[in-house]
Amino acid sequence: MGGAEMIGAVDIGGTKIAVGIVDENGRVLSRLETPTQAERGYKAALDRMASMLGEAARNAGVNFMGIGIGSTGPVDPFTGEFGNVNFFPNWRGENPVRDLAHIFKVKVALENDADAAALGEAAWGAGKNKKRLIYVTVGTGIGAGLVFDGHLYRGVDASHPEIGHHLIDPSGPECVCGFRGCWESLAAGPAMVRWVEAHAPGDYANRDSLTAKRICELAQAGDEIAKKAVAHEGRYLGLGLANLVTLYAPDSLVLGGSLMKSASLFLDEIRRAIAQNCRLVPFERAELALASLGEDSNLIGAARVWHHRFAGEEGCCA
Ligand SMILES: [Zn+2]
Repeated sequence: MGGAEMIGAVDIGGTKIAVGIVDENGRVLSRLETPTQAERGYKAALDRMASMLGEAARNAGVNFMGIGIGSTGPVDPFTGEFGNVNFFPNWRGENPVRDLAHIFKVKVALENDADAAALGEAAWGAGKNKKRLIYVTVGTGIGAGLVFDGHLYRGVDASHPEIGHHLIDPSGPECVCGFRGCWESLAAGPAMVRWVEAHAPGDYANRDSLTAKRICELAQAGDEIAKKAVAHEGRYLGLGLANLVTLYAPDSLVLGGSLMKSASLFLDEIRRAIAQNCRLVPFERAELALASLGEDSNLIGAARVWHHRFAGEEGCCA
């Protein structure tokens, strides 16, 4: 039955919930997923999480000693409560930490999903053995987690720093947060689509059903507008990363998220922006790496949340 430190992992996202069993080396032994269907209510989602955790454990043939959760935020990592989460507004105040602990009689820990993925990459992925890791995920938004000396950096009251919303250009586009010119508004996937819509000629053949992924494919096929959009994207991704290098002088920047599946399109611009903007710190020591835990990085990170929270008091994993 394994017997080692198996953790039940739960990754709660806006569109899907993934559940799995992750071993003490960060390997996923079994996994299941379900659409989030937030509109069906929290209780229905909790029931599915619980039954999938049981099924995942049976599939792996192990018992789990704890549960780690990574969730789209805002969430309170210590009380376990959901805040006012965009994707499931009616779940505010609900508490999966309390509820899963009650069901399974194990300790449960929760973090914001970017923080969870950062912890996973720091322990088992591209950030392993780095003392100052900054993990950035770029998809429909930009999220980040900071792991210094193996510990997650938190803001006051355990808040999650919103690095995706640091200001790049005060005259930039409106952001979902109500501000203007945030990094996310300029460099997340939807910003690429908006850039093409604003700059492509009226007769541009690829205007319909544009996505960031499609723009990357078009750029790779030599489409001139898409190539410009990619250059613009790389520049703004690079400016935000350059700010992080200047602020923290990290030894590791790990990039994940759906847009980084096309990372080769952006890396030259990113490196150029960092080299041009970070001359007062040893920017060349900031290793730029791609997340190495793959599609399951959030799930693996969720398991790591448990170790990060409780390993000390359990006397393991020093
Ligand atoms: Zn913003």
